[in-house]
Amino acid sequence: NPYGWPRDLVRQWTELLSSVELNRYPDPSSARLRDGLRQAMQVPAEYEILLGNGSDELIQLLALAVAGSGQTVLAPEPSFVMYRMIATFAGMRYVGVQLNEDFRLDLGRFIEAVEQEQPALVFLAQPNNPTGNLFGEEKIRRIIEGTPGLVVLDEAYTAFTDRDYLPLLRDYDNLLIMRTLSKVGLAGLRLGILIGSPAWLEQIDKLRLPYNINALTQLSVEFAMKHFGVLRAQTRQIRVDREGLSETLKQWPQLQVFPSEANFLLVRVDRKSTR
Ligand SMILES: *Cc1c(COP(=O)(O)O)cnc(C)c1O
Repeated sequence: NPYGWPRDLVRQWTELLSSVELNRYPDPSSARLRDGLRQAMQVPAEYEILLGNGSDELIQLLALAVAGSGQTVLAPEPSFVMYRMIATFAGMRYVGVQLNEDFRLDLGRFIEAVEQEQPALVFLAQPNNPTGNLFGEEKIRRIIEGTPGLVVLDEAYTAFTDRDYLPLLRDYDNLLIMRTLSKVGLAGLRLGILIGSPAWLEQIDKLRLPYNINALTQLSVEFAMKHFGVLRAQTRQIRVDREGLSETLKQWPQLQVFPSEANFLLVRVDRKSTR
């Protein structure tokens, strides 16, 4: 998100920040902040919310929670690079299942890999990074149903699509939803959000360091959630601009522009064509 906050909002925010007592530890459970997020994201009361220092930290907590000798993390290829890096650092096997040439998900190939590898953890970024596309709800359901372990739907780009898989939590007890405030315009604050049943999140919370969300981030995000409409208007504008940019780029015959539900466009460049 390239847009900043209006000047008046920045003034209110900096004033608020000067009230933080930096000599005190922050609330280890970020209780007020989680309440604010629950409202802003309309998370039903039966689900728990676990916060991370960006969703990168949540990916790390998830890997640590299920790591064990010979345990596997599985995800489409290409997808978000941290899945592979963190799985490797946690001592796990990582299996990437190739997407099609046009980056659609080949369900047969994916399910076959799941059956063969029996992954403890499957990551599905929706929309996917770096391809920007959605795989389709039916395929996602089939993957969740076929996976023996935990499936994490990573909705980092949820602000840029109408698709919202939070309601799927009701149907599957091996599913968690992960979000972040980074892509809506708060990347510097580092706040990732894991949503799911208390049974799962209580266990993962045991691995979390007590003060992973610092006092300035807690207060800043609480403030931002009260003004979420500003960020929402900006992300709506980005969605409109995405379509304009996509149409413009399509005028070059050597560029293949893929459909995107995210805040970026994936473009394949034909370097042989010189027109
Ligand atoms: C950017 C991104 C993340 C990480 O976000 P942070 O909260 O900034 O750590 C996770 N998943 C996907 C798919 C991303 O694109």
